[in-house]
Amino acid sequence: MKTMRTTMKTTIIPQNGRRRIFRFRRRVGVVLVVKNAKSSQSEAAENAPKAQGVDRSLNPRVQDLNESKTVALTDLARTLKERGEDVIGLAAGEPDFETPEVCAKAGIRAIECGMTKYSPNPGTLPLRTAICEKLKRENGVEYKPSEIVISNGAKQSVTQAVLTCCGPGDEVIVPAPYWVSYPEMVTLSGAEKVILKTDIKSHFLITPEQLEKAITPKSRMLILCSPSNPSGAVYSRETLEKICEIVTKHPRLLVLWDEIYEHIIYAPNEHVSAASFPNMWERTIVVNGFSKSFAMTGWRLGYSAAPEYFSKAFNMLQSQLTSGPSSIAQEAALAGYVELGDKGGAPVELMRKKFQERRDYVMERLRKIEGVAIETPGGAFYAFPDVTKLCGGDKGGFVEGFGPVKGSDELCRYLLQEARVALVPGSAFGVDECIRISYAASDETLEKALDRITEALDPKKFKRSGSW
Ligand code: PMP
Repeated sequence: MKTMRTTMKTTIIPQNGRRRIFRFRRRVGVVLVVKNAKSSQSEAAENAPKAQGVDRSLNPRVQDLNESKTVALTDLARTLKERGEDVIGLAAGEPDFETPEVCAKAGIRAIECGMTKYSPNPGTLPLRTAICEKLKRENGVEYKPSEIVISNGAKQSVTQAVLTCCGPGDEVIVPAPYWVSYPEMVTLSGAEKVILKTDIKSHFLITPEQLEKAITPKSRMLILCSPSNPSGAVYSRETLEKICEIVTKHPRLLVLWDEIYEHIIYAPNEHVSAASFPNMWERTIVVNGFSKSFAMTGWRLGYSAAPEYFSKAFNMLQSQLTSGPSSIAQEAALAGYVELGDKGGAPVELMRKKFQERRDYVMERLRKIEGVAIETPGGAFYAFPDVTKLCGGDKGGFVEGFGPVKGSDELCRYLLQEARVALVPGSAFGVDECIRISYAASDETLEKALDRITEALDPKKFKRSGSW
């Protein structure tokens, strides 16, 4: 058995003008053997098939990861469609709109002008400068270009932030429902995840009291996403202020503030940046990107904004992982910030309005289905109905010819088979009582999907939980 080597690492976190020094243990061993881990490397090696003499064992941290259910379901729906099956995919987390023309044309221009070389590691200076201006204007938070790291999607920005700041011995507080990747990134970092469950009664938002109880001396990071994927819940200024007040009482605690859906928000909700509250700037890592607001999922571009003491480390990690993001995508994004004006201007507002109409339509239809409880989402483009009355409890629901339907996974499997609509089970987001329906689809598609879902859940066919 190989031994575990550790070293002492010093990190300096300035707070209120004082410099506080913390020490934490960092593993430096190449092979780590943690006896009570779910799957140690040595066990994996023993159990691995010995075909062709290849040791197929994997790094336990990777082996412990779960595949993204949203990605898997989106791919499944796509494959079924490609096979000619009449499946409606409402599992994907991407706008069905085209990238704004201004951005697309800037991307084309970039290729034609030969801007096809490696970009600087943290991203181009013009885009980092434009991001700083945007953050100041729209969010009231000030950063220097050296505090921005542009990556290949916000997913990379979140991963880099978690891997950089959190490690073995740390706890990361993740409210559920969570975006599928947060807990997996925490696993990858070697830190422990502390899941704070919310539900429809709490409007899918954590309360300041709940947070206070969850904080321990090991708490290193709180991950907040507003508007939320998957619930669409938005933190109000008042609640966020109280949460931030608690956070600032704990010098080790950082906030990863994922605001990727900030522009897809519906009045009276408003987007407020966690970094804008007193003493929060120094302990907040803002993550944002172009995938959702600018319908640029395929361009792969996101960024983090954080004090230099963190950004430098993100930049260093990125230099060893991927180097700078796509030079072409950055030109497209720059045009979005520079030419479209605040909040993405007319194209983004058009998209936002359309999402709001669809949200209202989906709410109206879901409320008509017996046993479905739904909270009107304040932002993003997902409905997250509670289906406890359909498939919760010990036995779940029942359909003749299909059998029991217990929990969100089985309900989604049933709806895919019977209604041919691909949705994501709430279990993927840590809340098995719900399912996620993306309304980033055309009006006709949504109408057809909801007709099919309504029919598949007709009480004559689908026996509700506890009624059979
Ligand atoms: N954060 C949240 C909450 C998301 O929903 C997503 C995309 N589904 C991301 C981050 C990552 O976005 P991207 O990598 O496409 O920029």
